[in-house]
Amino acid sequence: MERTITVSDIRKAAQEAYNEAKGVKGGANADYIPYLANIDPELFGLSITLTDGTSFNFGDTEYRFGIESVSKVPTAILAMIQHTPDGVLERIGADATGLPFNSIFAILLENDHPSTPLVNAGAIAACSMIAPQGATDDKWKAITDNITALCGSAPELIDELYESETATNFNNRAISWLLKNYGRIYDDVDISLDLYTRQCSLGITSAQLAVMGATIANRGLNPVTAKQVFDPAISAKITTMMASVGFYQHTGDWLYTSGIPAKTGVGGGVMGVMPGLFGIAAFAPPLDGAGNSVKAQTAIRLLMSKLDLGIFSGDKVSVVS
Ligand code: GLN
Repeated sequence: MERTITVSDIRKAAQEAYNEAKGVKGGANADYIPYLANIDPELFGLSITLTDGTSFNFGDTEYRFGIESVSKVPTAILAMIQHTPDGVLERIGADATGLPFNSIFAILLENDHPSTPLVNAGAIAACSMIAPQGATDDKWKAITDNITALCGSAPELIDELYESETATNFNNRAISWLLKNYGRIYDDVDISLDLYTRQCSLGITSAQLAVMGATIANRGLNPVTAKQVFDPAISAKITTMMASVGFYQHTGDWLYTSGIPAKTGVGGGVMGVMPGLFGIAAFAPPLDGAGNSVKAQTAIRLLMSKLDLGIFSGDKVSVVS
């Protein structure tokens, strides 16, 4: 069915979703990274950016929180820009693991067959693929420049978070060396793990993540800066990955209940992509058992249901002013 929704319908639905989700209780801050345990659990923001560049922001949308695993999305995009989507498929893969984000078991199960850049193992492998090889500073610049281009403004490293993660990332060290053992790290192991840890420690706002989502929804054209950040064909590839594994072992439940491909991070952020229409991001620190923000999930689900949207609805939806 062809139908239209108005910009003001979207603003109203986002405002209502924010108001209704604000009171939602439950979940707990991540505590395996000490910095995250101390963030105010009441912080909550909801941002939406349409593919025409219009943005709506409610709540704590300028607060810089740890991007964490949402950073896996831009770096997967960068790996696709540098090595093509097929190059990423060949070296990392595009399969859901159905297991937690930090699973070692997933690597053992698929040691001859890579999984996806959207879980820790594949994300560390993606960092190892970023050019130029062996040059930490230049690789880091490539990663952060790409995030800046996608968001239209720069992220900022949270030093305390970076130190906190570096001091406690024993599981990720094990993952990195196991990947090396299976020939799935394409640069120095320590450099690759450090880049991954650093990118997870970037501070980002929900307003910035909504613009990143909108850039992906808009086939690589950042609607705020009007710059083409990546080849339009990459959009469907990265959105497919988000749809298949963005919530780890809960991805099926998420897509079934929300209708929107999205990616979460243990900092409390969630970024969603509604192809052709908008990017959406929500942030609230308390997480469910799989490491996904309880309030952010509620807010995005509410908005999707209020607007009666879903990527598999079959509807051809256009936004009118
Ligand atoms: N830096 C975190 C980790 O590697 C990111 C995990 C996440 O956000 N799911 O454990």
